[in-house]
Formats: sequence, structure tokens, C-alpha cells
Amino acid sequence: MSNHKITLKEEDLRAAPLFLSIVVPVFNEATGIDAFHSRLQQTLSQMNGIASEILYIDDGSTDTTPRKLEKIHDQDANVSIARLSRNFGKESALSAGLDLAKGQAVIVIDADLQDPPELIPAMVHAWRQGADVVNMRRITREGESALKKFTSHLFYRVMNRLSDVSIMQDVGDFRLLSRRAVDALTAMPERCRFMKGLYAWIGFHQVILDYHREPRHSGTTKWQYWGLWNYALDGITSFSTGPLKVAMYLGLISALTAFFSGAYFLLKALILGDSVPGFPTLITAILFLGGLQLVAIGIVGEYVGRLYHEVKERPKYILDDVRHEKGAS
Ligand code: UDP
Ligand code: MG
Repeated sequence: MSNHKITLKEEDLRAAPLFLSIVVPVFNEATGIDAFHSRLQQTLSQMNGIASEILYIDDGSTDTTPRKLEKIHDQDANVSIARLSRNFGKESALSAGLDLAKGQAVIVIDADLQDPPELIPAMVHAWRQGADVVNMRRITREGESALKKFTSHLFYRVMNRLSDVSIMQDVGDFRLLSRRAVDALTAMPERCRFMKGLYAWIGFHQVILDYHREPRHSGTTKWQYWGLWNYALDGITSFSTGPLKVAMYLGLISALTAFFSGAYFLLKALILGDSVPGFPTLITAILFLGGLQLVAIGIVGEYVGRLYHEVKERPKYILDDVRHEKGAS
């Protein structure tokens, strides 16, 4: 019953004029930030009945990005800047943005123009029709290598096999979130925040819109393969204890193999009276088992490491400086 009431209230809200927040994580984007901002402003100014705030989260940029953002803040009344005390990574920057956003709907968008701001009206339209999470799925990924596409594909396959929530393939961070979706996300206390998983985990009414992902406007991606690998590990260990089971089954299989091969060699020695030429088999078995044990400990270690991070309960990010929009009182 109460659920029904909440839905009705949400729908009433969605017909009314909208206050929209745009959250933009920015790290060393000095070369492209002006182009991004003007395209974003142009799109927003063409939308009727919508008030908006743009929230730039400067994730500890070390180039001239902070100065450029200040200039943008001086020029436009609907721009806020929050500067983190150092580079915390995109996920933390996004958390800061969601915490600070005041809108009834929040759009998360990259500053490198890979996510076209021109799609915002379509996302808002989906929100008006009742969507809580509008996921943007890229149907092309220009300017990205075949290897990156392949590894990304592989990651989603493995992730969805192993985890309880299903993460949509080819959906990045570009999305719209309704107020209640944002509130659900910001209420989650965990430190290791694998956002793609969290977006799916909260549930609500999710829709998918397709778009063409453009190449970076300028600069280079901050994601190298090592970073992506760690990101993948993070995702899997955040949402699944599957690897622990895999380790257990591997152990079981190797123990069984050891048992049967042991029995085989014993019988062979007893019946045929063979003296067993032991060294090669022995050394392989020792190395194999040793390797297996280290891998299993490593897997357990991944989870222990996460516990360690969570238990410390450090804040997700630290704000250095916040400049609120001048339009707000
Ligand atoms: N970003 C950030 N902190 C970081 C790395 C990236 O805030 O430590 C921002 C970056 O400025 C951009 C967005 O996150 O707006 C996406 O970054 P990038 O283009 O490097 O990632 P990709 O598009 O390759 O996934
Ligand atoms: Mg990018």
C-alpha cells in the first residue's frame, strides 16, 4: 500500500517543472573543459521548463583545470565547483557529486565529450515517463582499440556470471538518476564503491537508451590496462563471493586427483613391483599444489583487503573547497 502512494507522489512530481543537476567528474581536462561546458550550456538553454545546476567535481587536477573551472564559475550563475583534496578517482568524485547534487533528477556525465550532452533532453523525457535510472548504452565505441572492446566485453560476461545483480553490458557511468535513486545510492555506507554495480543493485524502474559513443575530444584516457584490471577485480569482489567458491572447488579437484593418482602408483608398485621413477611427477605435483595454494590465498586476500578498507571507515573523499552556484541564495 505505502509503496503505491510513493509511486503516485513521484509521478506528480515529474509533471512539474524540473530542477536538474548535472554532475561532472573532472581530472586534468584543461584542454577540453571549455568545449564541453559550452556544449552542455547550449543544450540546457534549449530545454524549456527546466532549471539546472552544473556541478563540476575537480578530482585533484594538477594542470590548469582548476583555473579554467573558476573562470567558468565566474561566468555562469548555475555552475558550482567542488574540489577534492587530492585525486581520489572517478568513483569517489561521483560520490561527492551525488552527495552535493540538489536536483530532483541528477545526470552524471564525463567531461571529455565522449558522452554527448545533446542526449540530456531524451534522458529527461524518460525520467518524466517514470524512469528512476536511465542507463545510456553505447552501441559504438569510436576511438577505442579492439583489445579494449574485447576485454570490456569479457568483463561483463564474467561479472554477470559471478554476481547476483546483473550489470548491463556497454553501459558506462553516463546516466540519469531520480531523486530517490540518488538518495538510495548516497545512503550506502560502503567505501569500496563499484558504481556500476551499485546502480543496478538499487533496482527501481530502470530503462536503457542507446547512443553512439564519440572519441575523446582531447587528452587521453586515464585508464590503462592495469587500472582496468584492478577495476574489474574490484567489481567482481564487490558483488560476488564466486571466486572463493572457485578456489574451494579447485582445491577439491586437485585433492581428488592426488588421491587417485596416489592409489594408481601404489597399486602399480604392489602388483607390478615397479620401482616408481618419482622425481618428475613429484616436482610437478609440488609446484602445482604450491601454485594452487598461493592463488587460493590470493583470492581470500582480495576479500580480506576489502574488509580492511571497509573496517577503517574512512570518508569516501575529502572536500578541499566548494564554490556554490551564484544563482542559489
Ligand atoms: N576522471 C576523474 N578522476 C580520475 C579519472 C578520471 O574524475 O581519477 C574523470 C575524467 O576527467 C572524465 C571521466 O572521469 O571526465 C572519465 O575519464 P576517462 O575519459 O579517463 O575514462 P574513460 O572514458 O576512458 O572510461
Ligand atoms: Mg572518456
